[in-house]
Amino acid sequence: MKPILREWLAEMERSGMMKRISKEVDPIHELAGVGKKLEPQYGAFFEHVRGSVIPVVTGLITSREAMARSMHMSYEELLQRFNDALNNPTPCKVLDQSQGPFAVKENILVGNQVDLGLLPACLHHEKDSARYLTAALCIVKDPETGIRNVCIHRHEIKDRNHLGALLLPRHTNQIFSKAESAGKPLEIALAISVHPSLLLSSQATTRLGVDEFEIGSTLLGEPIELVKCETVDLEVPVESEIIIEGKILPDVREDEGPFGEYPKTYGAKAPRHVIEVTAITYRNHPIYHTIIPATMEHLLLGGISREATMMQTIRQATPNVKKVHLTPASGCRYHVVIQLDQKHDGEAKNAIFAAFTSSTEVKHVVAVDTDIDIFDMQDVEWAISNRVQAARDIFIIPNAMGNKLDPSSRGGTSDKMGIDATIPMGDRRERFQKIHIDGIEDIDLENYL
Ligand code: MN
Repeated sequence: MKPILREWLAEMERSGMMKRISKEVDPIHELAGVGKKLEPQYGAFFEHVRGSVIPVVTGLITSREAMARSMHMSYEELLQRFNDALNNPTPCKVLDQSQGPFAVKENILVGNQVDLGLLPACLHHEKDSARYLTAALCIVKDPETGIRNVCIHRHEIKDRNHLGALLLPRHTNQIFSKAESAGKPLEIALAISVHPSLLLSSQATTRLGVDEFEIGSTLLGEPIELVKCETVDLEVPVESEIIIEGKILPDVREDEGPFGEYPKTYGAKAPRHVIEVTAITYRNHPIYHTIIPATMEHLLLGGISREATMMQTIRQATPNVKKVHLTPASGCRYHVVIQLDQKHDGEAKNAIFAAFTSSTEVKHVVAVDTDIDIFDMQDVEWAISNRVQAARDIFIIPNAMGNKLDPSSRGGTSDKMGIDATIPMGDRRERFQKIHIDGIEDIDLENYL
């Protein structure tokens, strides 16, 4: 399928997943406030945003099922397909001029015409330093290999043609370092308002040298179509609404932040990379997408890709793992629940070890049996309260590598805790059986009220 955002927005409206707001809202706090109050039940389409003619959408996917549905799949299918895609990338299709005209080139601003102030970028949280772009796919190419890299970073709007960027020590940063050590800028393109499948693909956990769009192409079952940029030697998804082109400047760092982040705490102000913008291109009547930090939309983009990778890792430790859940309250990072059809003593502990190795961010892991709904935290807590004896079932590994953004970590080291909440293999299972009202599944309250 072709990843077309407007088709997904239409589907969201048809199925009641999206609220349309015609009242004018202020992009300073008010928009984020309304969007936050609507999620995770609804996404929001703001038709009138003060100071811009461009409408704003947020909450494109607020559940795992919605992400899967945007690609016409079930969630289980999506996890499987995503893992397959990680191992089998498909080359993208670069369209040439003769295949145009392209909507994203309907308006081209270069030189003095460039003005980031045209965008209805939002100020989200109280202590944020500025308006931020939060949903831009960040596209660069490795100057040594020419291989594309795609991810999402936060971008602080500094003035009409400069952005601050937080490049964590990951691929964009590594690629930029190669350019910077040669004294050169690194060209960059930001694609704003793209289909959820492209946002998800950008979050794939891969080694440096894998093009995330090629993973997306496999996930979608056909090559993603790209068009060349105007002022940089990069290609961007043809269905994007808005493109920002520019270069990350060598040997320049300026203060960026603070910014409210996914753990629901602020990332501190520090000297960070600066992008000089060389062009903005956009469709007629474009739509601008903002991701409100720490909402389900934000957390699930990282969470779904991590769940897919973690399933694969745990399956290597035990084939009896059924499902994994990275919980939203932990930013879809720190807490994991594993559902296991345990066949051997100690198997749950091995599954928990595997979850720890899947990502350094993982702190606390609970393993439960197949009668527990791992996406219902009431049910998970029930399992912990009824099936765990702390001295027997909880184990702690002190001072392992953790996440610096975790305010309780010690310079990045963190304790790991495993909770085996499965029924002990030798125990009488009927003692642990849940109560059940016979026939409750067939009762439709409509017939009684
Ligand atoms: Mn990468």
